[in-house]
Amino acid sequence: MSTNKYFLTDDQIMIQDMARQFADEVVAPTVTELDRAHAFPEDQIKQLGEMGFLGAEVPEEYGGAGMGCLCHILIMEQLARHSSSLASIIDAHSGLGTQPILKAGTEAQKQKYLVPAAQGKVLCSFALTEPQSGSDSGAIKTTAVLDGEEWVINGTKAFITNIGYSKTFVVAAKTDLEAKGSRGISCFIVEAGTPGFTIGKPEEKMSNHSSYSGELSFMDCRIPKENLLGELNRGFPLFMSCVDEGRLAISAVAIGMAQGVLERATRYAKQRVAFGHPICEYQGISFKLAEMASEIEANRMMLYHVCRMQEQGIPFAKEATMVKMLSSEMCVRVCDKGVQILGGYGLCEEYELERFYRDAKLLTIGEGTSEICRMVVSNHVLKEY
Ligand SMILES: Cc1cc2nc3c(=O)[nH]c(=O)nc-3n(C[C@H](O)[C@H](O)[C@H](O)COP(=O)(O)OP(=O)(O)OC[C@H]3O[C@@H](n4cnc5c(N)ncnc54)[C@H](O)[C@@H]3O)c2cc1C
Repeated sequence: MSTNKYFLTDDQIMIQDMARQFADEVVAPTVTELDRAHAFPEDQIKQLGEMGFLGAEVPEEYGGAGMGCLCHILIMEQLARHSSSLASIIDAHSGLGTQPILKAGTEAQKQKYLVPAAQGKVLCSFALTEPQSGSDSGAIKTTAVLDGEEWVINGTKAFITNIGYSKTFVVAAKTDLEAKGSRGISCFIVEAGTPGFTIGKPEEKMSNHSSYSGELSFMDCRIPKENLLGELNRGFPLFMSCVDEGRLAISAVAIGMAQGVLERATRYAKQRVAFGHPICEYQGISFKLAEMASEIEANRMMLYHVCRMQEQGIPFAKEATMVKMLSSEMCVRVCDKGVQILGGYGLCEEYELERFYRDAKLLTIGEGTSEICRMVVSNHVLKEY
């Protein structure tokens, strides 16, 4: 694949090549086995940490690689060509878990929590969703009440990614119990192992078998007063600004996965013979490949453009939501076509497309469902015109 058409810098091309090589040589050979075993790719996460890929966007003074948004997205895209689970673990850690600390942490919080996270020594999680409130994230019920020098947290979180491996959790809790809607929510840093904080078992789910998501429960969990992250009662805007960045990462996963499907389906279509010809010679197949490639390209060009907006400080929330919505739905369509091109083998584990097909569905649900993305974009449109 030529990279020049995307106007990448030499450094960005170098990072993309490193990520591609790692994905092809380390991730690809193990991904099916890890998925079958529902096993966490612990060694790969360790290696990615050593390569600086768990803190790609974090400035060097805080242990990161200081590479910028587009580099992070290039890494995610390459990893997702083979493993959506691996890319999602990194998104939960870098895109979501460490971002609030980077954006709002005190110097002491950054030294204690951000530096080891950016160096890949510990994993982070972002805990907003609760059993009764996902899309309606302002309706959380977890509370944090100040008692002397400690906050006391009570409540339950659901679907929190990286459980079992995360050491640092950024947790949303209601601190002004009288405030309505998304007001009166604050952000806290909670360490795994804190008394009163219990980490549940991973959900048995259709997608991303090697990435663990599940419940957290807090029962009179006491954390130091200084673990409040950012301003009191201003946690919701902080979480939402991190979700904007997370949507770019989800889009990169969608585009990377779709690219992985296109590559596999094209190789198959060239060698599979039916009625005396390779099936790629039939327009019923080659037109599918053309549609897949065109949709991937359109989404990739849009994503890289939005990343450059982010890097230049241009507001990008609307565009991040647009590209997340478009690319996640594109990925589902591409996976469907890929399975169709492989016929019966598309359903077999050995050929991998069944895994892509299962994993793709998560992309239209996490970090803003397709419906919520449409609400966000339509709110912008209705204000603009
Ligand atoms: C594998 C996985 C990992 C996750 N990781 C994390 C994590 O690390 N941290 C975290 O905080 N959360 C995480 N989540 C939670 C995720 O963000 C939520 O699942 C998502 O926001 C949707 O919430 P919900 O599942 O409660 O669905 P609901 O909000 O209950 O929605 C159900 C359906 O109703 C629709 N709907 C809701 N409101 C409206 C409306 N106003 N108009 C039209 N349709 C509407 C939705 O689009 C959806 O189709 C994860 C989820 C999954 C599945």
